[in-house]
Amino acid sequence: MIDLDSPVVAVLGDHKKKREAIEEKLGLRTVGDLLHHFPRRYVKTGELTRIDELHEGDVLTVVGQIASSNLATYKDRRTGRPAYRVDVTVRTDGPSFRISMFAKNEKVGRWQQQQRMPVGRRGIFLGKVSSFRGEWQLTHPQVVLFGTPDEDAAQLSLDAIGEFYPIYPLTKGVDSWDLQRAVAFALTVLEDVPDVVPEAVRRQYDLLDVRTALERVHNPHDQGEISSAQRRFRFEEALVTQLVLAKRRRVLREQGARARTGDQGGLLAAFDERLPFELTDGQREIGARLEEDLAQPHPMNRLLQGEVGSGKTVVALRAMLRVVDSGGQAALLAPTEVLAQQHHRSITALLGDLATGGMLGGAADATNVELLTGSMTKAQRTGPMSRIATGEAGIVIGTHALLEEKVIFADLGLVVVDEQHRFGVEQRAALTDKAGTPPHVLVMTATPIPRTVAMTVFGDLETSTLTELPAGRAPIQTNVVALAERPTWFGRVWERVREEVGKGHQAYVVCPRITGDEQEQGESDQLDLDEDGDVMPAASPAGGLAAVEEVAVQLAEGPLAGLRVEKLHGRMPPDEKDRVMRAFAAGEIDVLVSTTVIEVGVDVANATAMVLLDAERFGVSQLHQLRGRVGRGGLPGLCLLVSHAEPGSPARDRLDAVAATTDGFELSRVDLEQRREGDVLGKSQSGYRSGLQNLRVLRDEKTILQAREAANALLDADPRLRQAPDLAAEVARLEESVQSGFMEKS
Ligand code: ADP
Ligand code: MG
Repeated sequence: MIDLDSPVVAVLGDHKKKREAIEEKLGLRTVGDLLHHFPRRYVKTGELTRIDELHEGDVLTVVGQIASSNLATYKDRRTGRPAYRVDVTVRTDGPSFRISMFAKNEKVGRWQQQQRMPVGRRGIFLGKVSSFRGEWQLTHPQVVLFGTPDEDAAQLSLDAIGEFYPIYPLTKGVDSWDLQRAVAFALTVLEDVPDVVPEAVRRQYDLLDVRTALERVHNPHDQGEISSAQRRFRFEEALVTQLVLAKRRRVLREQGARARTGDQGGLLAAFDERLPFELTDGQREIGARLEEDLAQPHPMNRLLQGEVGSGKTVVALRAMLRVVDSGGQAALLAPTEVLAQQHHRSITALLGDLATGGMLGGAADATNVELLTGSMTKAQRTGPMSRIATGEAGIVIGTHALLEEKVIFADLGLVVVDEQHRFGVEQRAALTDKAGTPPHVLVMTATPIPRTVAMTVFGDLETSTLTELPAGRAPIQTNVVALAERPTWFGRVWERVREEVGKGHQAYVVCPRITGDEQEQGESDQLDLDEDGDVMPAASPAGGLAAVEEVAVQLAEGPLAGLRVEKLHGRMPPDEKDRVMRAFAAGEIDVLVSTTVIEVGVDVANATAMVLLDAERFGVSQLHQLRGRVGRGGLPGLCLLVSHAEPGSPARDRLDAVAATTDGFELSRVDLEQRREGDVLGKSQSGYRSGLQNLRVLRDEKTILQAREAANALLDADPRLRQAPDLAAEVARLEESVQSGFMEKS
C-alpha cells in the first residue's frame, strides 16, 4: 500500500541518477513530498505551436529540437575581461529560434553547452521573443527538455501533455517530464490521503478536499481548477502557520508581563522638560499609546514605523525612561556597532546629567546608560555587565553582544529593537528570554511593512506609524546617473560633491565592497541556478565593483584632491571606526567613503550629498535607508545613484523607482513586488520559511487573514486540537522546525 509517507522510490523509475537528484537535490523523500512539489507554472498547450504571427515582445512557448549549441567567448566592454555565452539554435515546425545564455566563466559556459543544451535534445522553450539581425531570439528562456533525445519518446511525451502542461521547479539532472510521470503514477496508486484541513473549515471557507486539490494542481483541465487547488493549499499553509503563531500568542499572554506604570520615578518628566525641541503630534500620540501598552499586565508587542528621520528614537527613549521610572531596565538592540555607538552618544547627550546616576552631583532621578558591543574587551565589559546585573544601569544599548548568555539583567522590562530588518525573530527571542517575565517589546523600522508581513513574520505586532517629519527636514533630490548611456556624467558627480563641500557641507560616498580583490558573497564560482534550475545570467558582468579602499585613494588623489577624504568600513578596528564617525560628525572630514555601515541611523546634519556607486547592487529599502542619511539638518539633500544598469533592466527600474519617490510605503511595495515571499521574510528574519512555500504575503493577504480567523476559532473551541489530529501533527511539525532552525543559529 502506498501512502504519503511511503518513500518516493515507490513511484519512481529505476534511473539511479534521477532518483538521487529527486531525493537529494530536490529533497523529495516521500510520496507526500513529491505531491506537494507543485508546478511553478503551467504552459497552455494551445500556445505550443502558435508561431506564425510573431511579434517582438511576445511571450512564447515552442516545442523544438536543439540544432546547434556553441560556446562563444567575447570581451566584456565594461571590464575588458573575457566573458562567455552559449549560442543555441532551436528548430521548430515553424521558424528557428536563437537562444543565448550568458555564463560567468568558461566552466559554467561549458556545462551549459554540454549538459544543459546538448545538440539533438528536444524540449519546450518558453521565453520572450525578440529579433536580432533578422533572426528570432528567445531571451532567457525557461527550458524543459524531454527525457530522451530519442525522437519517438519525445513524441510520446508530447502526446501525454494535457491541456495545461505543468512546469515544475527543477534542479540539474531532473526534467519536468520525469516529475510529471512520477506524480501521475503516484496519484493513481495512492490510497488514502488524510486531510489536514478539517471538514468544517473546508466547508466554511469553500475549500477543495486534499485529494481533489492534488489531482487538479498536477493535472488541471482549466484555469479554474488550478486556482481552486492553489487556494486550498495556500489556505492550508496559512492555517498551519497561523496556528503556530496563535498558540504562541496564547502562551505569551498567559505568562503575562509586569505592568510598568512609571510611578516610581520622575526621569521621564525631567527629560521632557529639558527636551530641546517640541515633540510632533505623532510622537506625542504614540508616546501615550506606548504608556498605555506598558501599563498592561501582558507584554506589549508593537512595531513603530516611520520615515527615516521621523524621530523614532526619541519615542523609544521616552518609553525606556518610563520603564526605568517603574523600577525596571530597558535594552536597545542595534544592528551594527556604528549605530550602537551613535545611539549611545546621542542618548547620553539628550539625557545630560540624567544619565549620571550614582555619580556625585548627578540629578536626583538619574540612571546609567551602558554600552555593550562585541568588540569590547573582556575587561571593558566587566563594569557595564555588573551594572546591568545589579540594575544600576537603567538603559543598556548594544549589538548582538547583548544576546550572550553571560549578560544578565536585574529586571529587564522593555526591549527596543532598532531597524528590525537586520534582526531575526530568533534574536529577539534570545533577548526577551533574558527577562524573568516576558518583557515588553518595541520594534522600530524605517522600512514599513504591510500588515500581513507584520502578522506573519512577527506574530502579531500592533503597528504605530509616525507620518510627519519633525520641522526643519528638507527634501532630498535623487538622480540616477546612468553610466550606460552617459559615461561622461561620472566627472560631473565629483564636481557636485566639490560644490557641496565648497558650501561648507559634507558628503558620503558609498561602495558595495571593501576591497577590490575580495570574493563577494554570492560571487563564487558556483552556478547561479534559479528555482527552475535554469542558469541565470549574472546581474552585472563580474568584477570591477567599487570598493572603499580603492575609491578612497582614487578620489583623494584624483577628482577630490585637496578635500579631506576618509574611509569607514566594518573591517576597521572599532576604535578607528568610532574616531572616524566622531571626526565626520565634528565636520573634520569632508567626504566619507564607506560601505553600508552607515546605512542605518547615522545622523550628521551637515551632510548634504550622497553618492552611491554601483547603486544597482543595493536593494530598494537599503537605498532608501542610505539616502536618509542626508537632508537631515534643514539643508536640502542630494543623492546620486551611479549605475551601469541598462535602461529597462529590473535593476534600473528599481533605481528609477527610488529616484521617483521618497515615500517609504510606496517603495516597500515596489520592493515586495519584485521579490518572492521567501526573500521578503529574509534568510535571517524568517523563523517560518519552511512553512511559506506557496504563500505570498501581498497576494495572499485575504487568505492569510481568513486562516488567522479560522486558527483562532479552532483554538477557542479546542485548544489542543484534539478533534483535528492531522492538523495538530502538522502544526507540531512546523513548531519543531522553527525551533530547530533557532537552535542551529544560536
Ligand atoms: P529616525 O526615525 O530615523 O530614527 P531619529 O530618531 O534619529 O530618526 O531622529 C532624527 C533627528 O531628529 C535626531 O537628531 C532627533 O534628535 C531629531 N528629532 C526627533 N524628534 C524631533 C522633533 N520633534 N523636533 C525636532 N527634531 C527632532
Ligand atoms: Mg533611527
